[in-house]
Amino acid sequence: MGSIIRALLSLLSATQMSAQIIDGKATAATLRKDLAIRTQQLIAAGSPPPGLAVILVGSDAASEIYVRNKRKACAEVGFNSRAIDLPVETTENTLLTLIAELNQDESVDGILVQLPLPDHIDAAKVISAITPEKDVDGFHPHNIGLLVQRQPGLRPCTPKGIMYLLEQTEVDFHRSHAVIVGASNIVGRPMALELLLAGVTVAVCHRFTEDLASHVARADILVVAIGKPGIVQSQWIKPGARVIDVGVNRNDDGTLLGDIEFATAKQQASWITPVPGGVGPMTIAMLLSNTLEAAGLRRKS
Ligand code: NAP
Repeated sequence: MGSIIRALLSLLSATQMSAQIIDGKATAATLRKDLAIRTQQLIAAGSPPPGLAVILVGSDAASEIYVRNKRKACAEVGFNSRAIDLPVETTENTLLTLIAELNQDESVDGILVQLPLPDHIDAAKVISAITPEKDVDGFHPHNIGLLVQRQPGLRPCTPKGIMYLLEQTEVDFHRSHAVIVGASNIVGRPMALELLLAGVTVAVCHRFTEDLASHVARADILVVAIGKPGIVQSQWIKPGARVIDVGVNRNDDGTLLGDIEFATAKQQASWITPVPGGVGPMTIAMLLSNTLEAAGLRRKS
């Protein structure tokens, strides 16, 4: 009986579905307001404002925009934002020395190094040089290890933001099958760990995955983080799925688009994130949240 109802619902979804939009922009704005209030309370209690150092090496156009947005959001919630812009020829040693100084600096609660770094700098080495207590991106092996061990500390911002958005859709995690397309260190892999932690059954796909369509078709929760539009096709999406598009790509006219074709995916999904206005604003909100958390933990210790 249950399977008949599910089949009927599926059919109904396929013919009538138009997904609800998961509004990351509005959700992030609400979160930022709350963070601003908590920051004021911290300051009123006699604590200095949380401090976030954002380091940019070189002048990659996309990175410059991301860094500008992060610094702006930081100032808006009342944090002390330290902007450090370094020329592209900065050596790995210079960057490591700077990070060692920031690790010791009492006014700095969080250190963020914008990725990607120029080719001559080993990003893994740089991330590992940040003290885990100030690793507000959540990429340090210590913080990833804590997430693996189900004892999350500072958690990677994009997956953390996605979990928050999924919770807003009142999804039943324990009865969901999630498929993540993309297995990078900063999105796909930690996303799998977050979903596992929530009790979701998870599959992770990457460039060697065969028959991607059949994997995507099984997903109640689909997270796509590739960085190339068109690889995941909307018609593969299971009717009623929750679809999270992490990809940020640019049309020839400079406008942004995700990895999934939004208009057609919207007909299949029950919930979907737009690009822009979905995952991106949540990543920044979670960076602020991590910085406040780091400040709180450091001041207690
Ligand atoms: P990335 O490091 O380039 O990783 C891309 C992943 O996609 C890799 O795991 C790769 O597989 C996989 N992939 C490539 N081609 C594939 C194919 N044909 N089939 C299946 N998988 C394939 O990128 P990223 O840093 O994770 O970012 C992904 C996208 O998300 C980008 O557009 C980025 O701009 C965006 N992003 C957005 C936010 C946000 O806040 N909105 C945050 C971070 C990233 P392999 O592992 O096998 O190489």
